[in-house]
Amino acid sequence: MIPFRDTYRDIPLYSPAKKPCRVDLSDNTNLFGSPPSADRVLREEGLLKLSRYPAGYAPDLKRAVAHYAGVAVENVTTGCGSDDVIDCALRAFLEPGDVVAFPDPTFVMVPMFARLSALKPVPVPLRAGADLDLDVEGLLATGAKLIYVCTPNNPTGTVASRAALERLVDQARGVVLIDQAYVEFARGGDFLDLARTRPNVLVTRTMSKAFGLAGLRVGWGVGAPSLVAEVEKARGPYKHTTLGEAVAVSALTEDVAWMEACAAEAVENRERLRGGLRALGLEPLPSEGNFLLVPVPEARRVGEALRERNVNVRVFEGLTGVGDALRIGCGPWPLMSSALKALKEVL
Ligand code: PMP
Repeated sequence: MIPFRDTYRDIPLYSPAKKPCRVDLSDNTNLFGSPPSADRVLREEGLLKLSRYPAGYAPDLKRAVAHYAGVAVENVTTGCGSDDVIDCALRAFLEPGDVVAFPDPTFVMVPMFARLSALKPVPVPLRAGADLDLDVEGLLATGAKLIYVCTPNNPTGTVASRAALERLVDQARGVVLIDQAYVEFARGGDFLDLARTRPNVLVTRTMSKAFGLAGLRVGWGVGAPSLVAEVEKARGPYKHTTLGEAVAVSALTEDVAWMEACAAEAVENRERLRGGLRALGLEPLPSEGNFLLVPVPEARRVGEALRERNVNVRVFEGLTGVGDALRIGCGPWPLMSSALKALKEVL
């Protein structure tokens, strides 16, 4: 018998229910497509650079991120999606057996990454009530050396208040990782200023959502140079493909206006979708992301019936404080309209 890791025995693979559907609203990506400069960069540079390694630790991408985020290059780390930046941060700051605390519900990969590094994931329910804000005392009481907070939060779409987050950052004994994968869709609620000014804050961001580049797997993090240096150790030198880095750089420098226009339309259609869902008797949670979480009884059955009608949404069962729910990604109105029509038939 091969002596596999004990701590890996019960770890499942990530496999949300999915089948190819004409309307796929299941992963909160940019449903308008990918940034205009991507096409040019892939055609012009694509085949020229494949035989050599990219430069170690992605200096071009770091420069572009630093400029975009208004920080120094020393404040920036990057990874194979922000998934990777989160994973590296857990490995960089925690020893096996340490606690990582996070609000519940939140991004499902966090407890998974915790287990991959033999850490102890400790969920702390979001506060009950309409705003679903952080339970700061509950998170601090875990004594975790790393506390993860996602805002706007996946899957709820709700945001952490600045007061709660600042209190958490001030009193945490270690690092507070603020995942802002959806911040481009939010009204305010950008916490890069905390990453710039506090020694214990790492903000992670992604090119996968508003920037429309999920397939290229590029994410980044901003924090104090001493913090970032530790994450870079856990990261290793070659986390991007040459092409992924080149396209991310062009998107950050040439396509910000395109990204903002897509995000604005996604937000407008999110609220229009909310109206359509209300007309069906449903009450989505408040959202600052490009998606709505809609409590629906028997969500799994509803999700399967929607897939039979060529509409894929993300199903959640028994979410803490919410129950069964569907998460519907927002983009061009014709897609929203198809989802509403299918949902009306199913309900
Ligand atoms: N954080 C959150 C909250 C997410 O929803 C996702 C993607 N589902 C990620 C991080 C990871 O995205 P990526 O690795 O594509 O950057």
